[in-house]
Amino acid sequence: MALKVVLLSHSPEPERAVATAARNCYSPRDIETIDENWTQEEVEAMVARVRDAGHLSTFEHTMFTFGVSGVSRALTHQLVRHRHMSYEQKSQRYIKVKGQFEFITPPSISARPEIKAKYDTLMAQIADFYAEALAAGTPAEDARFALPNAAETQIVITANARALLDFFTLRTCNNAQWEIRELAFAMLRLAKRAAPALFVRAGATCVRGYCNEPNGPECPRYVVVRNPVAARRRAGVDEDGPERSNPEIVADQQTAALAG
Ligand SMILES: Cc1cc2nc3c(=O)[nH]c(=O)nc-3n(C[C@H](O)[C@H](O)[C@H](O)COP(=O)(O)OP(=O)(O)OC[C@H]3O[C@@H](n4cnc5c(N)ncnc54)[C@H](O)[C@@H]3O)c2cc1C
Repeated sequence: MALKVVLLSHSPEPERAVATAARNCYSPRDIETIDENWTQEEVEAMVARVRDAGHLSTFEHTMFTFGVSGVSRALTHQLVRHRHMSYEQKSQRYIKVKGQFEFITPPSISARPEIKAKYDTLMAQIADFYAEALAAGTPAEDARFALPNAAETQIVITANARALLDFFTLRTCNNAQWEIRELAFAMLRLAKRAAPALFVRAGATCVRGYCNEPNGPECPRYVVVRNPVAARRRAGVDEDGPERSNPEIVADQQTAALAG
């Protein structure tokens, strides 16, 4: 089964929720009127103001819930390291696998027929062992010890926009592992559709004009920061990918910051 990501729900008007939280800091309005009379332009201007100021606690007044399937346990093991997001994962204790369990095959294995054949055989052997262990009375919670990282799983993720921004920064980076990177881009596309103003500059740090990765200079996106047109073409950046910062503006801002 292929990766599938759906945005199950999100807080109503998440951009407005952020703007209202921010207005509470900057406006003399009382609490009953703090959320009144917003225009979309005002909401976006307020979001941009707090975003650019790094006042990102305002982004925490939102909630996005994603449903994810067709991913490996290797992915979810990495995913749950992000401590500000909440998870519910399909249980291998309560759900016994019948027959061949679903598993993810990395493209690098699919591309090598001999290795792929051995991989499939190994998965079949594991499934046989698992069935035999269950039949012999081994509890599912113990039989699952034999299931591999490749075993397919399903997970629900809930996070606020700030936690998502952190996640997108680390996991859309070319340095991230391919499967979690695909997930991060899929989630980013959905989040951006639901709340464009919150996620307009979301993505790896190169989207915002810098790169801390030691192997950054080897990355095609590293060039994006300096020569966006050529590198965009070379890197085959997908249309729904995050917007790129204008390198000249970034350079000017950096110069101004250093000078100031
Ligand atoms: C390319 C890549 C390679 C990786 N390789 C490995 C690896 O080889 N081995 C491995 O074990 N992990 C690895 N990781 C996982 C990594 O170490 C982090 O656990 C994961 O990326 C989550 O990052 P985080 O802790 O910043 O995120 P979160 O848990 O989402 O936290 C977000 C931010 O909140 C703050 N925060 C959260 N908790 C605390 C706390 N307790 N105290 C203080 N501040 C806190 C920090 O500012 C943190 O950056 C890798 C990650 C990436 C992206």
